[in-house]
Amino acid sequence: MKKSILTAGCFLIGIIALAQSTDIEKVKATVDKQDIKNHIYYLASDELKGRETGTPGIEKAADYIADKFKAYGVQPVKGAEEGYFQHVKLKNVTVPTSIKASIGSTDFAKENLALLKGDNIVTAGQAVFLNYGTAEDFEGKHVEGKVVVTYAGGPDQTDPGSLFKLALQKRGLAQKAGALALLEIHEFNPQYWSSVSGYLNHEKMTIFNGSEEEDGLAHLWVNDTSKMLTTLKVGENLKVKLTVNGIDNKTLTSRNVVGMVEGTDPKLKKEFIIYSAHYDHVGVGAPNAEGDSIFNGARDNAVGTVTVLSAAENIARYPTKRSALFILFTAEEKGLLGSKWYVEHPLIPLEQSVYCFNSDNASYNDTTKATIVGLERTTASQHIKDACAAFGLTAIDDPAPEQNLFDRSDNVHFAAKGIPAPTFSLGFTAFDAEVFKYYHQVTDNPETLDYDYLEKFFRSYVLSCRNIANADATPVWVEGDKYYEAGQKLYGTDR
Ligand SMILES: [Zn+2]
Repeated sequence: MKKSILTAGCFLIGIIALAQSTDIEKVKATVDKQDIKNHIYYLASDELKGRETGTPGIEKAADYIADKFKAYGVQPVKGAEEGYFQHVKLKNVTVPTSIKASIGSTDFAKENLALLKGDNIVTAGQAVFLNYGTAEDFEGKHVEGKVVVTYAGGPDQTDPGSLFKLALQKRGLAQKAGALALLEIHEFNPQYWSSVSGYLNHEKMTIFNGSEEEDGLAHLWVNDTSKMLTTLKVGENLKVKLTVNGIDNKTLTSRNVVGMVEGTDPKLKKEFIIYSAHYDHVGVGAPNAEGDSIFNGARDNAVGTVTVLSAAENIARYPTKRSALFILFTAEEKGLLGSKWYVEHPLIPLEQSVYCFNSDNASYNDTTKATIVGLERTTASQHIKDACAAFGLTAIDDPAPEQNLFDRSDNVHFAAKGIPAPTFSLGFTAFDAEVFKYYHQVTDNPETLDYDYLEKFFRSYVLSCRNIANADATPVWVEGDKYYEAGQKLYGTDR
């Protein structure tokens, strides 16, 4: 009796070891150094000019990824366009070349004005003062075709978060009431104002959800340094002159690249593991001393793109129990926009998307490690550690919490929705000079990478994917995590 249990035990251990070694063999069969090199040398080539969103270079990268998906046998996702794409609507917002305003008898100098949102306008007419511009303040007031003037923030809400949040509320109310423009009066100290207006007077890209007309309302922040407007009376009619000129906003469509492989387990295939990375980078900038002006972004994030390509090739050939969803995001460098768009327009219901295994990279300083930002925050940590160990690497958690890296990449939009979402990165033990040497520098080139290390790194990622996607238990947030409750809300409390 004893002996047969022992024999059965040995047999079981043998099976587990065999399953593990088979998965290692499967990973080795598809992830190899030369393929990795080919992908990175193309994605980070000068031909793609740094893959900036809105330029032809990034479109070439998107087509390359889609061609690989097709070659691997990755399936298109229902609702995707032209096979493997999700269109992402963006707007490139420029700054006015001239901006002038006077309220009542007070003229404001250009340096005390900043456009928060909206389009060119030239007007001279009526303004109405609505205190803090709350819903009650708007009630019963006739503001159609007029300029609305309000104080910024709320009576006790002047912290930066509230200022921006309440500004959007006021904007919505002003638009609904048919106002011509909205001016908010601030009393910032000069240093703080210069950082706020510096941020606003800066070309940027945003998600474009609305229509041109809705987006057009000129919305200005006015810094009333000499407190000329502190005695305005609610409902008071004022004369106003307003000129905003030279804005040249353009909408554009960019592309997330998406594909899937259906799982093999009749029950678990309803659950999707997302494998994601951004494939854009920052484009072309000022030349360095050697005359190089192309930010090729080999580490950031051709490497991340290839983690997902490696997983796609492997899982298409050897499907896992859970289904796989591969997403390469556009416009991460413009403010995590492609991933934001995806979670707002998911192609697979978010509650079926049980895990997001993201990859993003600055650089590395330790080729014995893989750094997983958020490693210990989900119950998948052992799967990742085991996979790294199988290829001679040590998995470590975020060594630089002060950089707030977890909330600075695409994974954060998934986390905020409740989806466990760590980020798998090249091994770094500190965000130090060695990392900054390449992080967002023209030196981030393919020939500066250690491909022996990369082979271990990509194999570790793909084996982690297999371990997570084949495990009996669905990975969840560790109890008490910042996003634990969001997870309970998304999936229900019985998980
Ligand atoms: Zn970056």
